[in-house]
This record gives sequence, structure tokens and C-alpha cells, in this order.
Amino acid sequence: MARSKCPACEYHEFEAVHVTTKTGQKFCLIQCANCGTVIGALDDVKIMNVIKNAEKKLSRFLENLNRKVLTVCRRKNS
Ligand SMILES: [Zn+2]
Repeated sequence: MARSKCPACEYHEFEAVHVTTKTGQKFCLIQCANCGTVIGALDDVKIMNVIKNAEKKLSRFLENLNRKVLTVCRRKNS
């Protein structure tokens, strides 16, 4: 995979910065960690939704896993 670089200073590290506009909209900016050139902006709400969906999927997966482990344990004990 090609290495990402800043278009301004060619630095290779980036950081996510959370900003809130005057109207209260929340964004997440991806900027160069060296010079601060903004590479991209993400909608904070969308990110939160993605995280929430991932959390739901993960907890469902863990619930299923727990159930399977319990079933196996019960089988061993009986
Ligand atoms: Zn830069």
C-alpha cells in the first residue's frame, strides 16, 4: 500500500481533530500532524453512527459466543 503524505509538506503522519462550527455542527478533520494542512473532513455524527453500529454487532457477537460457551460448559458438566 502506498504511503499517505501531506500535499503541503510531504509529512507522513496525520491526526484527527474534532471541531464544532458556530452553528453547533460537529466535524472531524483529518490533518497533517506536522503542518496542520487539512486532508479531509468527516461528519462526526456519521462516525458516531458507525461506532454505535459496530458496538451493536460486537455485543451481539459476544452474546452469541457467551451462549455457545455456556452450552459447551453445561454439556461437559452433565
Ligand atoms: Zn503537512
